[in-house]
Amino acid sequence: MVKPFVPQLVYVEPRALEYPLGQELISKFETMGIEIRETTSHNQIRNLPGDNDFQKYRIAKSTLVVGVRKTLKFDTSKPSAEFAIPFATGCMGHCHYCYLQTTMGSKPYIRTYVNIDDIFEAADQYMKERAPEITRFEASCTSDIAGIDHLTHTLKKAIEYFGQSELGKLRFVTKFAHIDHLLDAKHNGRTRFRFSMNDEYIIKNFEPGTSRQAERIEAARKVGEAGYPLGFIIAPIYLHDGWKEGYKDMFEKLESALPPSSTKDLTFELIQHRFTKPAKNVIEKNYPMTKLELDESKRKWKWGRYGIGKYVYTDQEQEDIKDTLGRYIQTYFPNARIEYFT
Ligand code: SF4
Repeated sequence: MVKPFVPQLVYVEPRALEYPLGQELISKFETMGIEIRETTSHNQIRNLPGDNDFQKYRIAKSTLVVGVRKTLKFDTSKPSAEFAIPFATGCMGHCHYCYLQTTMGSKPYIRTYVNIDDIFEAADQYMKERAPEITRFEASCTSDIAGIDHLTHTLKKAIEYFGQSELGKLRFVTKFAHIDHLLDAKHNGRTRFRFSMNDEYIIKNFEPGTSRQAERIEAARKVGEAGYPLGFIIAPIYLHDGWKEGYKDMFEKLESALPPSSTKDLTFELIQHRFTKPAKNVIEKNYPMTKLELDESKRKWKWGRYGIGKYVYTDQEQEDIKDTLGRYIQTYFPNARIEYFT
């Protein structure tokens, strides 16, 4: 069982202590006996311990930086929402294929932002600009926000903030099961609580440091009972010997665990495994022993964003994935909606 995240080392920006959450977090970490260092900027942690890149990377992933979010311009977040809402950056998990490895580059440490009222105010502006349309905000574009929320409760505040909003909705996804503190949040059905789910072989081999499949299923059951709109992102869908049985087993377990009330408005997002050349280089550097299959000759090349091509499964394999998983969803969750396959 993966324990709730506790940082090994904490950095704090002096300005963060002007906010109640900054003070609260630092006194909590002091009480826990965690080393706290000062940093002038949450973007420039220069003196991380570690003798080489491999060690530094691992230490960074267990380092938490308490900072103030200065950029309050939100990125777009298609297809799942209109905007990414920035409460945190980085993650303590060690998924071999994690997109943060390439997007965070030299800054794999975790940052949490304490000026949450400023972030809510910015969200309010975006909602007003789009009124009367509903605006959806995605809270997990640059982090697994739920994985650190047992420490910060930022996500809980956001769930309650959007619970009272008329024009906004919140979404996030997590691979962590430490979500009990979110069960009594006043969500008013305005937050879609999603779990990133996969078959057991994939979680076991490629997602160290995250909650196991059974733990995520149990957490999803509790979330369903708490009345949240529930969803699953099956990602990355990865072909390995026995993948059809593996995914069937996953859907069977989900079906027997989830309360029937939670399956009436259930969503699935399906994302096949893909990689770029830069991502392959970073994965091989950070996880040199990985069993992840990254052979370009077995894949189809596809134009990606920013002109960087990505390697996806062949057309035939993609059809097989859509048919197989589509059939399972239809069988086990006939009322569920598949939002997209990509
Ligand atoms: Fe990346 Fe998500 Fe894994 Fe964290 S849990 S390492 S964000 S894929």
